[in-house]
Amino acid sequence: MATNRTFTMLKPDAVRKGYIGAILEQITASGFRIVAMKLTQLTTDDAKAFYAVHSERPFYGELVEYMTSGPIVAAILEKENAVEDFRTLIGATNPEEAAEGTIRKKFATSISENAVHGSDSDENAAIEGAFHFSGREQF
Ligand code: ADP
Ligand code: MG
Repeated sequence: MATNRTFTMLKPDAVRKGYIGAILEQITASGFRIVAMKLTQLTTDDAKAFYAVHSERPFYGELVEYMTSGPIVAAILEKENAVEDFRTLIGATNPEEAAEGTIRKKFATSISENAVHGSDSDENAAIEGAFHFSGREQF
């Protein structure tokens, strides 16, 4: 079901570096409405489940350790064509390859510590959003 919603996390490196305000500013200035949001921290089980699709990749252990290393901002965002437009706004996974002006280009540390997550499909956006937020927490 196409929902015009996507799910994002401002990752531990972005929170540690004090980029929450600047990143949210860019997100809302780009036409996304914040539907749900919280500061939280992933457990090891949360991170393993969230990135289960990458469990055979060599960086999986490092990824789980990094994603549990500090608080994150989890949020659901609404906009027409949300999933695709948000992936465009954040830029390529590797900040060195990300387009000028994208969130990862401006705020990411490295290919692993890349500042922000964006869902890759409507289906995953719904699953990931529901993992963090009940219906009552979505506006
Ligand atoms: P994206 O977040 O752009 O959808 P992927 O789904 O391919 O990227 O990877 C999930 C996350 O795993 C990335 O955002 C990044 O934090 C980490 N990652 C991806 N590729 C690598 C890599 N080659 N080395 C280290 N970490 C990586
Ligand atoms: Mg992905």
